[in-house]
Amino acid sequence: MGKNRQSGGTARFRSNQISEDPIEKGSIGFPFLFLFPTLSARKLSQSPMNELHYRITQRVSECIAIANQQLGCQFPVPAIRFDIRGKTAGMALLQRWALRFNPILLEENSDAFFQEVVPHEVAHLIVFARFGKVKPHGKEWQAVMLRVFGISPQTTHSFDVSSVQGKTFLYQCSCDQMQLTVRRHNKVQRQQAQYICRRCKQPLTYIQSS
Ligand SMILES: [Zn+2]
Ligand SMILES: [Zn+2]
Repeated sequence: MGKNRQSGGTARFRSNQISEDPIEKGSIGFPFLFLFPTLSARKLSQSPMNELHYRITQRVSECIAIANQQLGCQFPVPAIRFDIRGKTAGMALLQRWALRFNPILLEENSDAFFQEVVPHEVAHLIVFARFGKVKPHGKEWQAVMLRVFGISPQTTHSFDVSSVQGKTFLYQCSCDQMQLTVRRHNKVQRQQAQYICRRCKQPLTYIQSS
């Protein structure tokens, strides 16, 4: 038996290798495959946003527990998603018993989220469960805010929304979502680049613009 492995070592094709540095692979069969991300994807997909997501989830549970105790109810903790883009801070999906939050505004206004946005959205769920479809910010909602959570019922927030005005494009892999700049988005759209998540090794696919 010959050992061919040793002799033919000049043209090894190491397609699975993920390098620290971006590599252009245009010459070996993957035109313009561009292996992303050392810094930016790691920064975007890990701390500190996921830490904040966890704390928000805890805060939602806390608000539900307060409401259950105050009202003598057994409301379950809602499903929680961090996928709102643009200038909306939070949203309650009443029939689905779910809450959505804006991850960028959360990162920049985390105190306001803990103090106001989470109770505000939980109160929408509580009101829906107890009163059905009533005015979103009517007397039932105001009463829950004031008497259950002890928070002055305001319907608007004065957030700094400057960063969500800038044009970015939302992509996702198998494990997370991340924003790409216009420049990177255009490269993907022109099929000049593909970005791959360093953690799950899956290509980033475009979801929507912000
Ligand atoms: Zn509201
Ligand atoms: Zn991933």
